[in-house]
Amino acid sequence: MGAPLIYLDNNATTMVAPEVIEAMMPFFGEQWGNPSSIHHFGGSVHRSIDRAREQVAQLIGASAEEIVFTGCGSESDNMALKGFFAAHGNQTRIITSAVEHPAVRNTARYLKERGATLVELEVDPQGCIDPAVFDQLPIDEHTIVSLMWANNETGVLFPVEAIAVKVKARGGTMHTDAVQAAGKLAIDLRSAPIDLLAISGHKLHAPKGIGVMYIRKGVAIEPLIHGGHQEAGIRAGTENVPYCVGLGVACALALKHRSEENGGIRRLRDRLETELLSRCAGAKLNGHKTQRLSNTTNISFENIEGEAILLHLDESGIAASSGSACTTGSLEPSHVMRAMGIPYTFAHSSTRFSLSRYTTVHEIDRVIEVMPGIVDKLRSISPFVGKESHG
Ligand code: PLP
Repeated sequence: MGAPLIYLDNNATTMVAPEVIEAMMPFFGEQWGNPSSIHHFGGSVHRSIDRAREQVAQLIGASAEEIVFTGCGSESDNMALKGFFAAHGNQTRIITSAVEHPAVRNTARYLKERGATLVELEVDPQGCIDPAVFDQLPIDEHTIVSLMWANNETGVLFPVEAIAVKVKARGGTMHTDAVQAAGKLAIDLRSAPIDLLAISGHKLHAPKGIGVMYIRKGVAIEPLIHGGHQEAGIRAGTENVPYCVGLGVACALALKHRSEENGGIRRLRDRLETELLSRCAGAKLNGHKTQRLSNTTNISFENIEGEAILLHLDESGIAASSGSACTTGSLEPSHVMRAMGIPYTFAHSSTRFSLSRYTTVHEIDRVIEVMPGIVDKLRSISPFVGKESHG
């Protein structure tokens, strides 16, 4: 069979919305000016970036001046942590979790090697963190807390708004990786005292290669890229105009459709999850049942190899994922499954289905139809069945 036809891997990346492509096209053609130029060619392009900045700001309840365009979500996360470290040096304390995306996890570990103190908080078996933990932690003006709003593998949400209140009360700085949350959850930074927030375009139907760093007014972050005065001097380099415009439109679309889409997506996700859990022997949900993104379900099928499930799904024209795209290729359970303490015989087969506004009920029903057969077949040939669990 050819390429997959049913795409349920939207936490890895999303289809670029047709409206986004349409809005970007003029900026590859007649609108090619440099937004920093004061002449006619620059002026209209500059206004388009301003508009995009405003659209991004509206999605998260921010002001346009607080939006910095970057190259991707990873760059935004790096900017937050390295920018903080550059200002605080070896006094820096980073508090993060054991289930962060590598964009935060590896950056924090890198900074630890250079002198920062690092605390990686454990999660419970459902992937959650209790905000009360923060009452016991040392937090001062040299502390940055970096927690993801929504987990890319399980969709589990951290209570970052409540945690931000505690962090700010003690003088710390709050960063959140909102790459999976932006466009899916209602985010209002007028009421949530978050200082720094990362967004990635390709997770919300804009192209790959564009991201955003929200920096609350008054929060000082050292730039990673020095050069011209673009992006208020925080991120030098001539802006990627078509992509900024595309991200602006994607944010406007997300804002317009968010609540109605989330309801529809949640119903489809719940249908898929309920049916797979009841029809497939040895199936178990990973992550908290309700404290979760409405588009994500992560299910393990005991004693089966996750990669084999993906290959069989692919043959049936269905694209899903085992763990995050970044860990695919390795047969080890992901760091997220390990941190949740999922037993090896389950963690191994963790399969993520992530939906989007383009997912249809027919697609979901097709997965429900083929999945039990795949599970039965793989279990019948599983090398794990009958063996001791590795815990
Ligand atoms: N943070 C999270 C939670 C993600 O899921 C991803 C991408 O998978 C990133 C950060 C990195 O974003 P980007 O691919 O734009 O660098």
